[in-house]
Amino acid sequence: MISKIIAEDLITKVRKAIDSVEKIVIVTHVGPDGDAMGSTLALWHYLMTIGKEPVVIVPTMFANFLKWLPGADCVLDYENNKAKADELFASAELIFTLDFNTPKRMADMADAVINAPAPKILVDHHLHPADFAKVAISYPEISSTSELIFRLICRLGDFSEINLACAECIYTGMMTDTGGFTYNSNGQEIYIIIAELIKLGIDKDEIYRKVFNTYSADRLRLMGFCLFQKMKIFPDYKTALITLTSKELYQFNFQNGDAEGFVNIPLSIAGVDFSVFMREDTDKIKISLRSQGTFPANKVAAELFNGGGHLNAAGGESFSTLAETVKKFEDALPDYKDFLE
Ligand code: 5GP
Ligand code: MN
Repeated sequence: MISKIIAEDLITKVRKAIDSVEKIVIVTHVGPDGDAMGSTLALWHYLMTIGKEPVVIVPTMFANFLKWLPGADCVLDYENNKAKADELFASAELIFTLDFNTPKRMADMADAVINAPAPKILVDHHLHPADFAKVAISYPEISSTSELIFRLICRLGDFSEINLACAECIYTGMMTDTGGFTYNSNGQEIYIIIAELIKLGIDKDEIYRKVFNTYSADRLRLMGFCLFQKMKIFPDYKTALITLTSKELYQFNFQNGDAEGFVNIPLSIAGVDFSVFMREDTDKIKISLRSQGTFPANKVAAELFNGGGHLNAAGGESFSTLAETVKKFEDALPDYKDFLE
C-alpha cells in the first residue's frame, strides 16, 4: 500500500473532529480549478457516505468544464448565495478549507469563514500555510489536494467508503493539478492511487475527455488569436508573455475558464522555460505564471504581483493598468536571469 505521509496525530484529530459533529462546511479558493473542486467534492461525497451533512461553498463559481463532476450541482457559490452561505458558516460545527494556504485566497468570502465559530481543518499542498486552522494537513510535496484527500480517507480507515463519484472527483483533481500527469507527477504512489481509483470503476480516459476536450469554438479561436497575435518571446530570458485586454476577451465571447491552460502552451517552445499570461478582469489584472525546471514562478509572482503558488505554477494580481503591469514585468525580467538553467 501507499506510505503514511499524513502524521498520525493529525489523523486522530480529524477523526475526533468529524465524529462529534453533523454540520460540516467545505470551502476552497476563488476561481476554483480542477483540484479545488475535485478535492472539495471528493470530501463531500465521503462525508455524505458516512452520514454527515456536508455543504460545499465556493467564493466564485467554477468553470463549465467542471460542471459534470458528480455533486457539482449542489455547490453553493458565495457571490450569488451570500445570505444562505453566511448562515451556513455561522451554524457550521466544522469547516474544512481545501487547496489554499491563506484566507486571502477566499476573496470576499474570507471574513465570513475566518470569523465563523467552527474550528477549521486545512487540507492543502501550498507552501507556508497561514495560521488560521485548528488542524493543518499541509503537505507541499504532494502534487494535489485531491491526492491528500484520498490519503486522508484511507488513513481514517475508510477506503471502503470511497464510492465511484468520490473516486472520479479525486482523479480529476490529481489529473488537472499535474497537467494530465505531465508535471509535478513523478511521485510513484500517484500511480498506485490511480490503479486503486480504476479498480473503484473510474474511466480515466473519459474523465480526460470531459475535462480537456469539451471547449467551445470561441475558446479555441481565442487561443489561436493569443498565439498568433499576442505572444511575445524574450529569448534572452527564455520567457514568453501573453496578454489579453477585456475588449479582446469580449470579442471572443469570453466565458469563465476559457483561458485555462493558455499559459502552459508557450512552454512547449524550445528555449522557453518561463511563461506568463495576463488578462484584464473587472477590477484587476489576473496573472498566471508557469515555469519548467528550477525557475521559481512563485518567487516572481510574490515579488511582482502580490501572489504566490508553487515553484512551477503560480499566480498573482495587479491593480495597475495592463500596460503598466507589462512594463513592470519586462523591466524586472533581467533580475531573474540568474535563475534560468
Ligand atoms: P492559476 O494560474 O491556475 O490561477 O494559479 C496557479 C497556482 O498559483 C494556484 O494553484 C495557486 O497556488 C497560485 N495562485 C494563483 N493566484 C494566486 C494569488 O493571487 N495569490 C497566491 N498566493 N497564489 C495564487
Ligand atoms: Mn491544488
